[in-house]
Amino acid sequence: MSLIKVCEVSKSYGGGDKIVEALSNINLEINQGEFLALMGPSGSGKSTLLSIIGGLTPPTSGTLKIDDIDVYALDLERLADFRHEYVGFVFQQYQLIPYLTALENVMLPLAITSRPGKEQREMALTVLDKVGLRSKSHRLPNQLSGGEQNRVAIARAIVNRPAIIFADEPTGSLDSKTAKELLELFQALNKDGLTIIMVTHNEENLTWVTRAIYIRDGVLAQIP
Ligand code: ADP
Ligand code: ADP
Repeated sequence: MSLIKVCEVSKSYGGGDKIVEALSNINLEINQGEFLALMGPSGSGKSTLLSIIGGLTPPTSGTLKIDDIDVYALDLERLADFRHEYVGFVFQQYQLIPYLTALENVMLPLAITSRPGKEQREMALTVLDKVGLRSKSHRLPNQLSGGEQNRVAIARAIVNRPAIIFADEPTGSLDSKTAKELLELFQALNKDGLTIIMVTHNEENLTWVTRAIYIRDGVLAQIP
């Protein structure tokens, strides 16, 4: 059964005679366990689609169902709970907080839960171990390399054990060795059952994914 169902989704920005139709009638199903690449030129609607599927931006029309939950029919509080439970983001704009250690950064998403502090710490250390950074958990971001900072951001995104990870150009600013390490990490997490949706411009990244979809002028160009 598909985990994510995007049905007849359209999204416009602006109003009056300045309307931009960013997405037009998108239909898309994504199964649990897919590692999906979302490709397309700049301005084609990739970020908009990602933020709609991630529960961050309501579409102008159409529906999003995740696990059969009609996401944008939820009230705001339940929508926040839904995001917390289902999705993790690895976005360039969600940078690490510079004055918190790697461990504290990873613990952040757990702070609003009712879990005891000791358990939060254990969960954060477990995911830092998974990304190979347990021994550097007390470092500040500027004491870590760019690749290591990326892995901390991934650890933070998965610490809640979400069903889906969204990554916007995760390899964009990385050298090829670090990019490969990140993709290996994503692939390992994907083999553990995590569904991953990654926006990318890099054709080389396609060797790592289970499916690629293309978007052009707000329309899906091809679903192989
Ligand atoms: P991509 O991620 O593929 O670069 P976006 O989803 O960011 O594409 O943008 C799709 C279209 O919607 C573009 O024409 C962009 O200018 C427009 N757009 C995106 N966000 C906004 C916004 N907040 N307000 C107005 N227009 C926007
Ligand atoms: P990576 O393979 O993860 O990119 P590097 O080869 O760049 O790592 O760095 C090796 C080690 O040097 C890292 O483990 C990191 O702890 C340290 N290091 C790298 N860059 C910086 C930096 N800008 N500030 C502090 N320490 C760094």
